Amino acid sequence: MQEVFTGSFTQQEPIPEDAIAAAVAVMRGGRLHRYNVAEGEAGEVALLEQEFAAFTGAKYALAVASGGYALGCALRALGVGHGDAVLTNAFTLAPVPGAIAAVGAVPVYVGVTEGLVIDLDDLEAKADRADVLMLSHMRGHLCDMDRLMAICDAHGIQVVEDCAHTMGADWRGVPSGRHGVIGCYSTQTYKHINSGEGGFLICDDADVMARAVMLSGSYMLYDRHLAAPAPEVFEAVKYDTPNVSGRMDHLRAAILRVQLRSLPDQVAEWNARYRVVEAGLRDTAGLTVVERADGEGYVGSSIQFLLLDWPPEKVQSVLTRCAARGVELKWFGGAEPAGFTSRYDSWRYAPSTAMPATDRILAGLLDMRLPLTFSLDDCALLARIIRAEVAAVYQSA
Ligand SMILES: *Cc1c(COP(=O)(O)O)cnc(C)c1O
Repeated sequence: MQEVFTGSFTQQEPIPEDAIAAAVAVMRGGRLHRYNVAEGEAGEVALLEQEFAAFTGAKYALAVASGGYALGCALRALGVGHGDAVLTNAFTLAPVPGAIAAVGAVPVYVGVTEGLVIDLDDLEAKADRADVLMLSHMRGHLCDMDRLMAICDAHGIQVVEDCAHTMGADWRGVPSGRHGVIGCYSTQTYKHINSGEGGFLICDDADVMARAVMLSGSYMLYDRHLAAPAPEVFEAVKYDTPNVSGRMDHLRAAILRVQLRSLPDQVAEWNARYRVVEAGLRDTAGLTVVERADGEGYVGSSIQFLLLDWPPEKVQSVLTRCAARGVELKWFGGAEPAGFTSRYDSWRYAPSTAMPATDRILAGLLDMRLPLTFSLDDCALLARIIRAEVAAVYQSA
């Protein structure tokens, strides 16, 4: 009998009971808007921001409506606008070029390496083309952040980090999101803490953060923030910064505060699962495991592997055969955008030129989610199925 996997790749864990209780308490109070607080009450959102700032070591934190909102807000706070060029990863998800396009700016794509990180040689070659890099730590892979920052500093490039897949990760002990001028996070259901929709922006620069707070829709209530610059800083920006409404509410903040406390334990759980799948895939003929760099503290909430230089019909055959056994793989090199995945040349609103070296990687790149509802035994089974199907297709003529 062939083994079949029956778990759901989109099923996250339930919201913890104490988070549910906190959400119910907010609803009982009726004060859901972040600036609707009782006398002497800080409010869940301001407390969450304070706790997220402490978690990352940032001076300031702002909770917002989504990760994509955080990215757009970051660009606006840095003054990126119509016609400006923004460097970004060719290997990322659509909200990243979307945020760039939303402010009227134009992406300049930087290639991806076999390690699935931004190609730093390509970045160096394109460094004089823009003043801002929106760096996507796509699928949780962190590049050599020391070299990246050295390149960017030498060229006066400000870095915005898209940490949608790296909340809880670090490079040589420095949390992801703390290398660039702004770090952006998502708390959407498929990321590391779950409020359905939501996001964060962190920053140490008082002027930039004051603009971000105004942009997020603070009206003149910015003094109710606990992880924002002092009210004086807002004097210089409050008349000139538009309200691009995108706040978080107390309900979502309440459930995130509880989840943030257990994030380090959750990270350990993800990585245990990741290591089981990684070990199970190692030394499969035709399959390249994506090796993690020394110094990379990652969160294994998904795993990637490469079928490098395989003909597309064989990659498709692996996908089909795995799917028939209950294993859902995503193909970043697929010709048509599907589900959450699309390719840099799918985004016609953000035109690109051909990138053959990147195309080669994407053409062989397969991806699998590892929700915490999977057990370690599930993970071993997933690896056995992938291994068998890759071997079967690889050996076929
Ligand atoms: C999810 C995601 C985003 C956007 O986050 P949302 O909260 O869904 O808006 C941005 N970048 C990457 C890489 C993502 O995976």
